[in-house]
This record gives sequence, C-alpha cells and structure tokens, in this order.
Amino acid sequence: KNLQRAGEKLITTHCSYCGMQCGMHIRVSEKTGKIKGVEPRYDWPVTLGKLCPKGVTAYQQIDHPDRIKRPLIKKNGAFVESSWEEALHVIKDNVTRLQQESGPDAMSVFGGVSMTNEKCYLVGKYARAVLGTRFIDYNGRFCMSSAAGGFLKTFGMDRGSTLPWTELEHSDCFLMAGSNTAECHPTSIQMFWKARDRGASMIVIDPRETPTARIADVHLDLLPGTDSALANGLLHLIIKEGYVDEAYVEERCANFEELKAQTALFTPAYTSKITGVSEEKIIRAAHLYGRAQKSVVMFARGAEQQSKGVDNVTLYSALALLRGQIGKFASGVATFTGQGNGQGGREHGQKSDLLPGYRKITDPEAVKHISGVWGIEPEAMPKPGVSAFEMFDEIQNGAIRGMHVICSNPAVSAPNVEYVWDSLKKLDFLVVNDFFLSETAEFADVVLPAVSWAEDEGTTTNLEGRVIRIRKAVEPLHESKPDWQILKEIAQVLGKGYLFPYEKAEDIFNEFRLATKGGKADYYGITYERIDRENGVFWPCPSLDHPGTPTVFKGRFETPDGKAVLPSVPWQEPGEVPSEEFPLRLTTGRVVYHYLSGNQTRRIDFLRDQCPYPYVEMHPALASRYGIQDKEMAEITTPRSSMTVEVKLTKATREDILFIPYHWGKELSVNKLTNACLDPTSRMPEFKVCAAKIRRITKK
Ligand code: SF4
Repeated sequence: KNLQRAGEKLITTHCSYCGMQCGMHIRVSEKTGKIKGVEPRYDWPVTLGKLCPKGVTAYQQIDHPDRIKRPLIKKNGAFVESSWEEALHVIKDNVTRLQQESGPDAMSVFGGVSMTNEKCYLVGKYARAVLGTRFIDYNGRFCMSSAAGGFLKTFGMDRGSTLPWTELEHSDCFLMAGSNTAECHPTSIQMFWKARDRGASMIVIDPRETPTARIADVHLDLLPGTDSALANGLLHLIIKEGYVDEAYVEERCANFEELKAQTALFTPAYTSKITGVSEEKIIRAAHLYGRAQKSVVMFARGAEQQSKGVDNVTLYSALALLRGQIGKFASGVATFTGQGNGQGGREHGQKSDLLPGYRKITDPEAVKHISGVWGIEPEAMPKPGVSAFEMFDEIQNGAIRGMHVICSNPAVSAPNVEYVWDSLKKLDFLVVNDFFLSETAEFADVVLPAVSWAEDEGTTTNLEGRVIRIRKAVEPLHESKPDWQILKEIAQVLGKGYLFPYEKAEDIFNEFRLATKGGKADYYGITYERIDRENGVFWPCPSLDHPGTPTVFKGRFETPDGKAVLPSVPWQEPGEVPSEEFPLRLTTGRVVYHYLSGNQTRRIDFLRDQCPYPYVEMHPALASRYGIQDKEMAEITTPRSSMTVEVKLTKATREDILFIPYHWGKELSVNKLTNACLDPTSRMPEFKVCAAKIRRITKK
C-alpha cells in the first residue's frame, strides 16, 4: 500500500506496548514536526498490517498534556518544577550522603522492560558500575521471570520462543495455558485463525472462557493454581496413549523415567478432582495434542504468575519434548511476552543475579569479561542482590535507603501493594524517571522527565527473539531527555562520567554487543545496519557473518550434556488456599484496552472510555448465593486488604472464582489484595491466585 501523503514523512518503527512489537509507521507533519497518527506496517512479516486499539492510539501519548515537562523536586510535600542542573545536584547530594552514611548498597535501582535494549543494558551498568550497589532488579520479575526460570531449567537457555512466529500459521495444534492472547496480544490472533482455516486445533487452559477460549476446540477451565496437576495429567495420557516420540526423547531428553513415575498418579479421574476440569475434556485435549504432527505449546502469565510458576512452565514444556516438537518447523514452545521488550530486558543485566548476555554474576569469568567491557576492576563488581519484591523487604529492614525507579510503576504493579506504598514512604530518597506522573512517581523526591518511545532511537527484542529497530519520529518534547542520557548525566555529577562515553544509542548498542559476546544471549553479530537490511535479526548471532537463529535447539539444548531436562514435579497447593473466612479464589488479569499499570493507557480518551475502571467478574450462580445483582457494588476482601468494585455477571467464568483486572492504582488497585508469595526459583509473586471473600454493598 502507498501510505505516503504530501506534506508528511513516515517513520518506520514498532508499537510501544506489548511483546508483539507490531510494525507501524508514524505520520509526522513536515511543516509542524508534530505526529499526526500511525499506520500499520503491511510489510512487517510478524504482524502483517495489524494493530490493536492500544497500538492505533499509542501516538496520543506523545503530545499529551499530562507529559512531565521539566524536572520536579518535592518541596514541603508538593512538586516544584526545577532546572536539570538543580535536580542533578539534589540527586548527587542525596546519593553521596546515603552511601557515605550506609555504604553503596544504601542505594538501589528498580528497572523496567518497556524500554530499549540499550537502556536496559545501561540501567544494569549504572547500578553496578556507577552506584556500586548490589540492589538492582526490575519489573520483569512480575512478568516473565517464571518463563525464564522454566526455560533455563529445561533447555539451559531462556529464549521465549523456540520458533519464529511467522511459522505459526503452518502449525497443526496449539495448546495455550494461561493466555488470553485475543485481548493481551490481539494481533497474534490472525496467525491462529490462518492455522485454524487449515484445520489446526486449539486447546485453551484458563479458568475463564475468555475471547481466546471461546474459539478453542477444548477449553480446560481449571481452578486457578492447579496448572501443574493438569499438566501432569496431560503428560500421563501422552505417555499412556503411546504418543511419545521415543527416539527423540531417547536422544535429546534426560529424566524420562522420573517424569513417567511422577505422572503415573495423574489419571484423568485424579487430575479432574484437583483441577475441576472434566475427565472427558482432559482426555480429548490429550488426544488432540498427541495426534498433531506440528504442535506449539504456549503459555503466559496465567500459568507463570504463581508460586509454582517455574514448575508449570517446565511441565507444559515437557509436553512438547515428549512429542519431539522442539527445534523443528512450525513446532515448539513459546511464551507470550507481556512487555514490549520483555525478552531483551531480561537478558542485559537488570536482574539481581545476572550480567549482560545471561552471564551469572557469581561466575568469576563472567565478572572478568563484563568488568573488562565496562572498564572497572573485577573486584568492584557488586555481589548478587535480591529480587524486585524483596527489595521492599530490604527497605523495611533499613538496608535500602534510596531507590531510583526507571520506567516502572511498582506502586500499581507489585503484589500486596499497600506494603509497597509503606516501603516507598520509608525511603530517605526516591528518584523516578517517567514521562507521566505515575503512582510511584507521586512518592518521589525527584522526578526526571524521560522521553516517550517515539522520541528516541534504539532496539528491542520481540517475543520471538528477533532484534528490531525503534526509530525517533520527533525531537524530545519540552525538557525531557532519553533515559540513557539522564543516566549519563547522573554518572557525570557522581564523578563517573568516563564510564558513559556515549553520544547516541548506537554507541551503547555496540558496547552491549561486546558485553554479550560469548554469552548465551549473544548479540555480537547484530548491527543496526543488519537489522535494517534484514527486517530484524534473531539472537543468538555470534558473528557478523552468522545468519541469526530463528529456530533454536535444532541439534542440541544448551545444557551441559546437550539434553533437555524433563521435570518430575508433584502438584502442590498455591501459597494461599480458600478457608472458612475466605471461601473463594481471586484471580487477576488484563483487558484489551489497557497496558500494564495503566499509566499510559488510562490517559488515552478512547481506551479509558471503553474501560474506565476495574470491576469484579463473577458467575450468576455465585452472585445469587450472596444476593448480588449485575452492576451492583461489592466489597472484595483478602487477608491483606479490601476494595470496592462494580459487579459484572458472566457465565464465562467458573462458579468458584472472582476475576478483577489490574490496570488501576490507589484504591482501585486489585494488587492491594494479591499475595506476594514468591516462586522459589524465579521469585515471581503469586498474582494469579489468592483466597478471597465478597460482600454486597449497595446499588451504584
Ligand atoms: Fe501490537 Fe501489542 Fe501494540 Fe497491540 S499493544 S498494537 S498487539 S504491540
């Protein structure tokens, strides 16, 4: 299509929101330099000219009146606009004071992954090389960490998709666990429709009959928190019914006998008793999946945001391994990455225990390599810190006294959020980078105006593992600056400017390529020029003449012996189960009109009008037990707190659960209610299940 109009230039880039990273052009007026709108990119091979409601309105953030125009400093309890010079000196004075009084770990960094690879890399370097603190972690702990932990355990490497998504339309069967992709990654649905037109089948595992579950051949409507029982039950049937690819398992997998013994107990009757899914549906799903020649197991936060999230990922991945599906065309395992750079953001050193390229901070060779690239002594590299939620514990016990939050809003997105609010209030000093005044920024002492995604250059890594280019459409608005430039200026006032010799994002990317060289997430062979020429490049890509790796694990897995590790994991109850006082299970999730904490999408008129506030979804049969009618207000209480929301009755949900979307802050935050019970491996909180009760309040 010819999208060019007179008097406008088209800037080719990608949507700022979810991991689909849909291809788009931004229309910019040549006369005013202002953004006029967006167009889908029809030649982008992954999303083929599709954008969702968030994507088509994303440009409205750029010139929004709520943008933070210049630095804000809190004085006598209220924000006052300041110069950059004054804000940087307040930061210098406070960081220096806290670190002189309590050591380098008194400062901490809370990062995010809705930003470019270059920024994610620099946040890790800023924390460890400039501030010298071990306390750095990021909001990916609340998003992708269980998928990452499960992939590492099973395959020895964490790439969120083992195959390119352009192959999905050729697959014969999809088994989706805990993903409402029709709402959360809407443009992906065309791929499944194309496959369905060819006769592919679809199995959806979800407590709710979501728009995704509605198009499934089998909907396994499990009780929240019982994924590992259901996965064990499906594995049991795959083995019993003779669907195992024995040659593949013999050659490429370890631990099969242990898995077989573990799953023996999970007959359809036993699995049904735990999960609440009928035996008939479990058997039908196993046959559909078992018979498919090219199948893909996919999962998302529904299965991952649990205290057993890593177990769930390893068990669902085992289905693909038993069928010999990994490393082959149109087959494999994939997770639906929530945040735009959820994949890249977890590879580059924002995690408390990892350095760029997925190198372990406890590995002396890794420390030597990265400190060499950074120009610091290996001895100066801080030790491992703690995970995102545990940083709030460290504030409570006094170990952390200052925090720099970059592109993240934990005051909405963390679990048990009243504890987080209390922790943020206890900080001696809080700095936040953002382009809207988020709920977290309201707690800050200094707020630094960052640019939006359309005002900066860089790269992201989409949910396939494809590294792509984000391009600048307009100059930074008002006095905002790119996060990398902000971190550089802080490094300069702290006397460490020599560590940040960058003039542009590409300089950071080229240093980052060296940092990842030889690591598992190796980007060394990827350059801006190659990304432009090749429509993105898949990592690992260890040299300039390497073609990139769209399909991983073709010959071997990245474990020491090259074999995938099959799990033998029993089913365990979630961290909190219903009781006499709290007889129901509460689960949370997203809606199509909002993104993450809603800090961006709640400000877009169209999106806010479609879904202006949270609600509780419940089955009419459950509502009638409490005398509750549709659209009445109800109070939901868990062992942590209460909130009042409007009731939405629907038969599309189980009769024993409540569902509330999570995109709102303060008194409208469902995360006041959620449980911070953490997965032992990934440290992912259990957002997806806790015990709750409901009480009718009154008509609106
Ligand atoms: Fe695409 Fe996700 Fe943006 Fe929607 S929010 S346009 S699916 S990247």
